[in-house]
Amino acid sequence: MSEQNILEVKDLTKHFKAGKKQLVHAVDGISFTLERGKTLGLVGESGCGKSSCARTIIRMYDPTAGQIILDGTDITNMKQKELKPYRKKMQMIFQDPYASLNARMTVRDIIAEPLLAHNLVKSKEEANALVYPMLERVGLTKEHANRYAHEFSGGQRQRVGIARALILEPQLVICDEPISALDVSIQAQVINLLKDFQEEKGLSYLFIAHDLSMVRYVSDDVGVMYLGQLVEMSEADEIYKNPLHPYTKGLLGSVPIANPKLARQKEKSSIEGDIPSPINPPSGCRFHTRCPYAAPECSQVKPELVDVGGGHKVACHLHKA
Ligand code: SF4
Repeated sequence: MSEQNILEVKDLTKHFKAGKKQLVHAVDGISFTLERGKTLGLVGESGCGKSSCARTIIRMYDPTAGQIILDGTDITNMKQKELKPYRKKMQMIFQDPYASLNARMTVRDIIAEPLLAHNLVKSKEEANALVYPMLERVGLTKEHANRYAHEFSGGQRQRVGIARALILEPQLVICDEPISALDVSIQAQVINLLKDFQEEKGLSYLFIAHDLSMVRYVSDDVGVMYLGQLVEMSEADEIYKNPLHPYTKGLLGSVPIANPKLARQKEKSSIEGDIPSPINPPSGCRFHTRCPYAAPECSQVKPELVDVGGGHKVACHLHKA
């Protein structure tokens, strides 16, 4: 593994059992690397497997196959006890800060909890000495420390979620749709806070979202997922200027556009139909049931993710390396 990379994911697969014989193919052979201090945006419709991918990387789920290498160490098959020191290096910010914050704990205790779990502080005073500055850092105050999550707005709760994730000084933060549940007016504030932390601490983010416009703003690279697989990946600007996969083009067509003339042009490339079930994903190219360019080959032969130049990778028979 290159020292440049904080995370390497190789052929990561996560299947869940559904009943006695069926499997949900949530994540199916995903590979990518994330450089230190950079942000990789992972996008796709809901149900495309991006959250399962994040939760498998952070080892909330055990992987079915593949490899997860964090800061040079293979953590794929580590038991929970072995994983503890590595958990400190990677933290998660969740979509719904209300559901992810314990309603019975004060904000101070919520933020101090990971410090105590990792034996980084021995007393309440030691914890407070770290919690209070962190509260200020995320735009709250010492006075908020003794309140409960329900007393805060959505934006403030997400600030508490960020404080809890960052108090351990992780190197990698997985942001699972961290702004989707927030008012538009608050979204930019939370994003700016995350960006400030990144600049200050050199953090690496895996940023999961279905909002392509926000992903463009925060990401160095973007990966597009469809039914558990990566279908396109490149530098963020390149993917927006020159999308190659019909699914990516469709997703870009579904980004709201202020200019009505441009909006009419874009609508033509929006995706028809619903995402198929991950229990029995379509054969060949999984997108063939919705793709306007599908040819007979597409339902039979799986297109591999190949570099078509300059690090721009795409999995589509229309684009060969
Ligand atoms: Fe469409 Fe075929 Fe390309 Fe799949 S491989 S995206 S079905 S053209």
